[in-house]
Amino acid sequence: MVTSQQVELLAPLSGVLIALEQVPDPVFSSRLMGDGLCIDPTSQVLCAPLAGVISNLQKTGHALSITSANGVQVLLHIGLDTVNLGGRGFTALVEEGQQVVAGQALIEFDADAIAQQARSLLTLMLVVSGERFTPWSHACDLVDCGQPLLRLEVEQPQVVVQEATLQGEALFSVAIALPNRNGLHARPATVFAQAAKGFAAMIELHKQERRANAKSLVAILTLQTTYADVVQISASGEDAEQAIGVLSELLLAGCGEAPTLLAQPAPSSMGEPVAAPTPIDGTLLRGVCASSGAVYGHVVQIAEQPLDYPQAGAGEAFEKAQLQGALLAADKALDTLGREFSQGPQAHIFSAHRELLQDPSLLDYASALMASGHSAAYAWMHAIEANEYLFRQGGNAFLAERAQDLADVGLRVLKLILRIEDAIQTLPDNAILIADQLNPSQTAGLDTTKVLGFVTVGGGATSHVAILARALGLPALCGLPQHVLNLANGTPVLLDAQQGILHVRPSEAAVEALTRQREQLHVRQACDVAQAAQPAQTRDGRHIDVSANIASMDDAERGMAMGADGVGLLRSEFLYLGRSHAPDHDEQVATYRAIARTVGAEYNLVVRTLDVGGDKPLPYVPMESEANPFLGMRGIRLCLQRPELLREQFSTILASHELTRLHIMLPMVTELSELRLARQLLEEQAQRLGIQRLPKLGIMIEVPAAALMADVFAPEVDFFSIGTNDLTQYTLAMDRDHPRLASQADSFHPAVLRLIATTVNAAHAHGKWVGVCGALASESLAVPVLVGLGVDELSVSVPLIATIKAQVRELEFSTCQTLAQQVLALDSAAQVRATLQNSQLAYSCVLEN
Ligand code: PEP
Ligand code: MG
Repeated sequence: MVTSQQVELLAPLSGVLIALEQVPDPVFSSRLMGDGLCIDPTSQVLCAPLAGVISNLQKTGHALSITSANGVQVLLHIGLDTVNLGGRGFTALVEEGQQVVAGQALIEFDADAIAQQARSLLTLMLVVSGERFTPWSHACDLVDCGQPLLRLEVEQPQVVVQEATLQGEALFSVAIALPNRNGLHARPATVFAQAAKGFAAMIELHKQERRANAKSLVAILTLQTTYADVVQISASGEDAEQAIGVLSELLLAGCGEAPTLLAQPAPSSMGEPVAAPTPIDGTLLRGVCASSGAVYGHVVQIAEQPLDYPQAGAGEAFEKAQLQGALLAADKALDTLGREFSQGPQAHIFSAHRELLQDPSLLDYASALMASGHSAAYAWMHAIEANEYLFRQGGNAFLAERAQDLADVGLRVLKLILRIEDAIQTLPDNAILIADQLNPSQTAGLDTTKVLGFVTVGGGATSHVAILARALGLPALCGLPQHVLNLANGTPVLLDAQQGILHVRPSEAAVEALTRQREQLHVRQACDVAQAAQPAQTRDGRHIDVSANIASMDDAERGMAMGADGVGLLRSEFLYLGRSHAPDHDEQVATYRAIARTVGAEYNLVVRTLDVGGDKPLPYVPMESEANPFLGMRGIRLCLQRPELLREQFSTILASHELTRLHIMLPMVTELSELRLARQLLEEQAQRLGIQRLPKLGIMIEVPAAALMADVFAPEVDFFSIGTNDLTQYTLAMDRDHPRLASQADSFHPAVLRLIATTVNAAHAHGKWVGVCGALASESLAVPVLVGLGVDELSVSVPLIATIKAQVRELEFSTCQTLAQQVLALDSAAQVRATLQNSQLAYSCVLEN
């Protein structure tokens, strides 16, 4: 039986009442996030409108939710776009999970400071749990903090049933209190939606009066659930009963998330000063290399102008046809792009975008708006922007990246509705594009006969845009200062991505030097490729294996054709990056066997086990959100926590043991016990498959602890491979993708080189070989020092194999040894670089990788 109760909401602030539809932000005025009201504040302390528990307290302190004992959830949001202030001007007076009483002070804010920097101070109070309400009558629009404002009719939750019940056509689960500390946020919602997609039944998730399509991540997030929210699943269709059973259990188990873990909001980016200077001639602007290479060209600023579109539609049928046509055209275009980029890790980007085009909650939302008289453009963009906002507010870096995908897809469809050509398609020759941010679609669509490279203020070295730039062979820099956007179109610039530099109006001499270097480089590269099959042996007879870093079958083929001495690193986590479900056993076996056959019986194939976590989430390996993912459940830690994952991978890799010299490598090893446990699992799998001769087992040296204890690991491994990318970030305590630390997070730092030396010495003392598979091995400048330190193998990116082999053939091992000892004693990365440059042993400073 349903009973109802009244709940009163007090004014959280003093100020002037504003109707929600007058709020100049569609996310709020559309009531997508819930109905409520807005106050233009005259006081500076936000107080609780009702008693309850605090949740969704943003790290930036500008918003939080309160959930009352009878399930009413109220979102309080101070100002518009105040998330961009990064917390400046806000002081939270309460904590996540804290019980508060009505009228208690929650957030103190500096109205003057915020008003100067943010769009508006308008403060929202929204009933996100969806109860209907009636306003208390007011004499005027002025309210005082603590004054009763809204009266809610709260229907008591349905009696918790003990088993699934049939209600009409649909079967309903028991009521389930969510065990997730932050409700169904990005990760658990992804897990849940993916699991729901596995059933044919129509499935919905209910929270009080609101419901969401359970197969839509977007829809689940829109429910804004929090800890202990009571939800129900309904399903109708042939496998409804099974769906209810499986999905109920999944919800109760936390959807892959431990019940007590707190999700941490990602750091929000702080805005740059607005009045930044225009860079002057000769200025060097620094950024992070997203795709290496050096080019000289002219600035073309790419600024997306906001597009105008009518709000009113010309009839529901007409507008729906417009949207349908645009969605079909977008799908076709994305399908074409997907085929063009079908090889390698970038392939998944466009399939993910295609999936968004079919997202039921986006489409339902847009349909409803068109049915109420709005245009297709308005309805579509409304649906996109509202959901994009939710993604960005979620405080989850991975989801924030998906918000960029959502915006990208939104714009693609909008332009098709409005029949607008993409600005980037009409470009002058020798263009170096400058943008605040390029999106993946724009990047993939670049005309490489005209565009020489690009630089962006936003983005990161591991973003989709960076991956695409490398696939297109376009030099690219990201993380440049904001004032790069002030450069006039046509300004000559020299983009040296490898050095992380954009040189504004470079001198003639600098341009000539670059041109000369590029010409020489092309000639040498052609010559190196012609001799790629020759071994990499120094003049005084030391042999170095130069092998390939690969992430796909295509890389394996190209690498072996380039003269690789086998594969030194197969990044197995990249093989199936675009999938929402794990590939089945047979498919994995087939992939490893195909790669092993390509490498052949003469050479090593080093397969690294899944290195998931950190900056590499894998959709079908759901994980808890972490405050510091690089320091969390990553690599071997994650695999040992879920041994079934490792067992399955070992058994699929082992199927190729007779086709090649199979090596298995464990990432992120820190403890000897991790190695021992993994070896035990490997031996069990080999025994199960009747394999007598175990493959070689080695570890990556990426954590300083492993390097420092290499003498302890050495007797128990067959080889080491040094991951200088991670070893550098962990040694120097600098995020490898941090745009502001890029120039300091340098693998040439003597501390990193000393750890390499320690590793090599320990390995050789026990007769084991050592490779380097991090990006340092692909740097010409580093090759002499790595050879001099005694490294046995350099595993490099595919296009560089022939070049690095040629460089080794020109080196004198004894000279390299002397040089290596010399740089180990230096103070800084800069000194090491200078010494190596002076040694003239680098093949060329502008090698492209
Ligand atoms: C490394 O860390 O150097 C490495 C090779 O691993 P990844 O770049 O895949 O983390
Ligand atoms: Mg690594």
